[in-house]
Amino acid sequence: MRMDFLHKLSRTMTERYNFIAVEDLNVNGMVHNHFLAKYITDASWNVFIKMLEYKAVTSGSILIKVNPRNTSRTCSRCGAVAEKSPYQRMFSCSVCGFACDRDLNASINILKVGQDLSEPNARGHSVRPPSSVVAVVDEPGTI
Ligand SMILES: [Zn+2]
Repeated sequence: MRMDFLHKLSRTMTERYNFIAVEDLNVNGMVHNHFLAKYITDASWNVFIKMLEYKAVTSGSILIKVNPRNTSRTCSRCGAVAEKSPYQRMFSCSVCGFACDRDLNASINILKVGQDLSEPNARGHSVRPPSSVVAVVDEPGTI
């Protein structure tokens, strides 16, 4: 059932979106954290990313992996970096007052970094994706 769900979700995402940015997580290192291991392996993050990779190639969409450093701690509005507990579900910025779900805030940051990393494609056209968040998937460490 899990594999079926991952196939369907990855197929839907690569057919619906021409640009996908994900965190390049060191999942193997993260599962050594016994507290997080169950959640990470349950989410099958590595399998899902592999599916996204090959389906993105066949559908012509672009998948970019971004460095996960501070994506959860950076304010997506003003760029301030804050200390956050992994248990806080809401992100709130003490600098500009922006507040939203922490996964949404991190997703916006991942998209921005992915946009910055995107290169012109082989035909010389920009592959700049839309500037809005179109999908949010809970990060594997989310409890
Ligand atoms: Zn802010």
